[in-house]
Amino acid sequence: MTQVFDRIAIIGVGLIGASIARGAAEFGAAGSVALYDASEAARARLRELAIGEVFDDAASAVAGADLVVLATPVGAMGYALEAAAPGLKPGAIVTDVGSVKGAVISATNTHVPAHAFHVPGHPIAGTEHSGPDAGFSTLFKGRWHILTPLEDTRPEYAQAVDKLEAFWRALGANVERMDAERHDVVLAVVSHLPHLIAFNIVAMAEDLESVTESEVVKYSASGFRDFTRIAASDPTMWRDVFLNNREAVLEVLGRFSEDLAALQRAIRWGDGKTLYDLFDRARRMRREVIDAGQDTAAPNWGREN
Ligand code: NAP
Repeated sequence: MTQVFDRIAIIGVGLIGASIARGAAEFGAAGSVALYDASEAARARLRELAIGEVFDDAASAVAGADLVVLATPVGAMGYALEAAAPGLKPGAIVTDVGSVKGAVISATNTHVPAHAFHVPGHPIAGTEHSGPDAGFSTLFKGRWHILTPLEDTRPEYAQAVDKLEAFWRALGANVERMDAERHDVVLAVVSHLPHLIAFNIVAMAEDLESVTESEVVKYSASGFRDFTRIAASDPTMWRDVFLNNREAVLEVLGRFSEDLAALQRAIRWGDGKTLYDLFDRARRMRREVIDAGQDTAAPNWGREN
């Protein structure tokens, strides 16, 4: 048990926010937790779940908090902080968990008062579920948390970054620091593009007239179902990711489309060597993911069927 903060406040309490609230309590990272969500239904549910003190407005929720975590969809972060800002106490650390960093920093930074410290971040952890009930305390265990500190030369700023790092470590995360621009390109490759491809394949399969929907579902264990898991992620969250990481996604998507065209050509011309070499490289990448502890080596990905 490492208590890092006396009191934290979470604004936007769905999958990620509720996981932080549960983790902070279970691992003793915070003395107390204040919660605010814009949705009345979510606030009512949070009162039933009793994972923190629920407030009916953002400014009251953050009053007295040493750490404020914005965990709304990316497109709402600026509005969420604008509403909370009047309640921020001197020395408070403001962070967020947005999947995009450049655009979120632009939307939030102007609302951080001079007496607070702004340290953006992003946990590389999640599930396809959303809402307060989806949260669980061990979501961040063994996962990476990326901090994207700003250029703030105040000596206390470095201490604020260290403190926030200690908080995420207390929740079981491994922490790395990088600049926001790099974060957005890396995430476009490892997360945003794979999601876009999954959304597209699943929607395309539904549209295909030559196969009925029931056949797609019936034979889905041949590969399709793994795309459906990724494509089941929250539509609001993902709409905001693509609207807010446009440049990096378009850059990576351009490269992807070129490589796909090369594969198409190899299939058309019966170029087995090109196909084999690419599949072999891809398979080795899978090994690296397992060796890095990011997935299981169990047969069938640890599934029972
Ligand atoms: P979620 O389960 O949908 O929860 C977000 C909550 O924020 C909802 O209850 C939403 O209410 C509320 N909200 C919206 N606008 C608000 C505002 N202005 N003030 C206060 N609350 C507001 O979403 P999530 O999956 O936890 O994602 C939250 C953030 O984490 C996103 O920025 C996402 O990019 C990031 N993230 C997600 C994952 C993941 O796998 N899900 C992983 C890493 C990072 P309504 O439903 O009424 O809009």
